[in-house]
Amino acid sequence: WKNAPHDLGALLDLSRTHGEQLFTILDTERVSFEANYRAASAFAQTLMSFGVGKGDRVAFAMRNLPEWPMIFFAVTSIGAIAVPLNAWWTGGELAYGIQDSEAKILIVDVERYERVREHLAALPAVERLIVARAGAPIAGMMALEDMVGDPKGWAGLPDAERPRADLASDDDAAIFYTSGTTGQPKGALGTHRNLVTNILSGGFSAARSFLRRGEPVPEPTPRTTLTVIPLFHVTACSATLMGAMAAGNTLIFMRKWDAARAMEIIEREKVSVTGGVPTIAWQLIEHPDRAKYDLSSLEAIAYGGAPSAPELVKRIYEEFGALPGNGWGMTETMATVTSHGAEDYLARPTSAGPPVPVADLEIRAEDGVSVLPVGTVGELWARGPMIVKGYWNKPDATAETFVGGWVRTGDLARLDDEGFLYIVDRAKDMVLRGGENIYSSEVENALYEHPAVTDCAVIGIPHRTLGEEPAAVVHLAPGAHASEAELQDWVRARLAAFKVPVAIHFVPETLPRNANGKILKKDLKTLFADREMAA
Ligand code: ATP
Ligand code: MG
Repeated sequence: WKNAPHDLGALLDLSRTHGEQLFTILDTERVSFEANYRAASAFAQTLMSFGVGKGDRVAFAMRNLPEWPMIFFAVTSIGAIAVPLNAWWTGGELAYGIQDSEAKILIVDVERYERVREHLAALPAVERLIVARAGAPIAGMMALEDMVGDPKGWAGLPDAERPRADLASDDDAAIFYTSGTTGQPKGALGTHRNLVTNILSGGFSAARSFLRRGEPVPEPTPRTTLTVIPLFHVTACSATLMGAMAAGNTLIFMRKWDAARAMEIIEREKVSVTGGVPTIAWQLIEHPDRAKYDLSSLEAIAYGGAPSAPELVKRIYEEFGALPGNGWGMTETMATVTSHGAEDYLARPTSAGPPVPVADLEIRAEDGVSVLPVGTVGELWARGPMIVKGYWNKPDATAETFVGGWVRTGDLARLDDEGFLYIVDRAKDMVLRGGENIYSSEVENALYEHPAVTDCAVIGIPHRTLGEEPAAVVHLAPGAHASEAELQDWVRARLAAFKVPVAIHFVPETLPRNANGKILKKDLKTLFADREMAA
């Protein structure tokens, strides 16, 4: 940590010291840190020759391709602002991101090109469109391969030096869009400091269990990470990508998530870390063919970004001999604010962990001012070098959310006397039943304790006099059975009667989630639309 870089250009330089070590793997393509450095530098030079300079936005939308980090570092290392767009978005949504960020350059893979092409006429600010991996040339289009080198021959790239740019830690570096779980995605404008802070947070998290036991902290060794969550979410970009660039970790990408294929890769490449979001871990645990694979290389399965069942912690430890990890953060915090793992997590499976050393947490009352005592549930506020300055182009939302150096998170939470954070709900997901507040996570956790339940969500459905009452959507483990009445009794035995879901809807698959593993609760309400509203 002695030479921790203060900006993303310096991080790109640092990554070069890992030389021929493998940085990214996708199918048969293998890119070393040196090749990534050369490609990023070559593309940075091209961007400068296009007149891209400090503060200009370069938007890009693609799968987790080896080009993703090359583009990200090319853009940020010359002081321009990287705008990674959500590759799951439709053409119209991509157009929103391109327009909102006023991007000058747009880079897409072929699939995204097909989606945005009809919108291009309405996006006059885009001066150049670059298509990656087109195979055959697309008329009038520039090919990324021509600028960074042949994707099939990363090893033979010509030597290229990173153009020197005047970078300061507090310069703007990237706009990441929020997941859009509660409304339209907002662009969080992060600085170089916001992003590189994750390196220190990650290093500390790895060291913490040793420090707590009073043991010497071992030198970190490079690890192989199966990176299945998209890099356009800060969770992957900050925690995984930043960490890999600094520590020399190898990232394996998958074209498409598939649990069996993931296990094949874990066995073949001796993967030590995977995860990302809780669903990934569940799908590995529940896979019928799991015993066929040697997964003993797994040291940790870590996730964050969404609520998870406490049961998962134990299952990961028992079934993989791997250490579970969790962390809380939001796009507005450019990722890691708390981090939880190892024995701390096994002992407190409902917590999201303590804050990383550079972050402060407070639980405040609704007035946004008074700080509530330990153990009380209120709104979580956070402060630290990872918190972004504000939203791009949204002064009102910025003023509302970023107050006096703190971010108001919209999450309801409590802290315990050791400083561990417990997320209880999003303020918007809380079920308001008459005068009583019901935290959906509390009811979900009670349902998760039932052995047949592997996935569930509790939402509020309309009630004429009470406003709302709780209902649940539940997915049962393969082959397991439980009736609505049985699950209601189960919750009644654990929680106050008013918290028992009045209706339970069973779904054959795990619940639908967005790209960041979050259940879109607002969409689930329609499942109960036919139900006669109770009076
Ligand atoms: P939008 O803000 O557009 O509605 P979003 O809040 O889902 O979307 P993100 O920034 O990706 O967008 O997600 C941050 C949110 O994810 C947090 O506010 C919190 O509700 C949830 N979250 C993150 N980490 C955890 C965690 N470890 N446990 C529970 N919830 C988490
Ligand atoms: Mg949010």
